[in-house]
Amino acid sequence: MSSTTPSVTLDYQPEVIDAQLDAGNDIYCRNMDIDQKLLDSVKGFLDEDEGRCLYEMALQAGRMGPCLEIGSYCGKSTLYLGAACRKSCSILFSIDHHRGSEEQQPGEEYFEPGLFDPQSGHLDTFREFRKTIASAGLEDTVVPIVCRSEVAARRWATPLSLVFIDGGHALETVFTDYNVWVGHIVSGGYLLVHDIFADPARGGQAPFQIYNLALASGLFREVDTVKTLGVLQRRPGAEMPAILANI
Ligand code: MG
Repeated sequence: MSSTTPSVTLDYQPEVIDAQLDAGNDIYCRNMDIDQKLLDSVKGFLDEDEGRCLYEMALQAGRMGPCLEIGSYCGKSTLYLGAACRKSCSILFSIDHHRGSEEQQPGEEYFEPGLFDPQSGHLDTFREFRKTIASAGLEDTVVPIVCRSEVAARRWATPLSLVFIDGGHALETVFTDYNVWVGHIVSGGYLLVHDIFADPARGGQAPFQIYNLALASGLFREVDTVKTLGVLQRRPGAEMPAILANI
């Protein structure tokens, strides 16, 4: 580990966080404790308002248990979620195989030549990701998991307060991410889905379909939608079907 890694101060004060939550979201927009220059420098596809929503939800969820994101890419969303987890003394599990999703491969629309590793012949976003969390001093808060999400889920046994789905956009991929993780969300916990487009002309439909599937299950209620980020909360008392119940 680099000797320049910033030290982490645990400043968990539940009564202060509660008071701030009661006072409204604006407080968080000013006090996210994230370096704006770093945020601006990290490659990614997350809107700033969506990032602030991630931060706010993780701050609330962090008091109930660990958070988990699927699809961290170079770590932009991780900065928001991780900063909130650090503030609430929580942990963020951050899953990505770091080989890029379908649309980020060579020749595709979102290919970034600088992320291609000629030695392995694959995209490699893990180096950038590590740089991001180290620069933000989040190495004691973020647990990177480098594999496909269904592999990480195989023997998973930790209840989660928030799951953020932002991995591959093929229907089978998003459905798998939903299917293997939803059963780990605690009662009152949150399911967040990125890249929801109600209009097919604006974007792929898989995340929107999964968002609607979650709603139709009766397990979740709608909390908020910020641009293309959908926020659902598991209804207290809603019984997880046996096929999804992993905990
Ligand atoms: Mg996304």
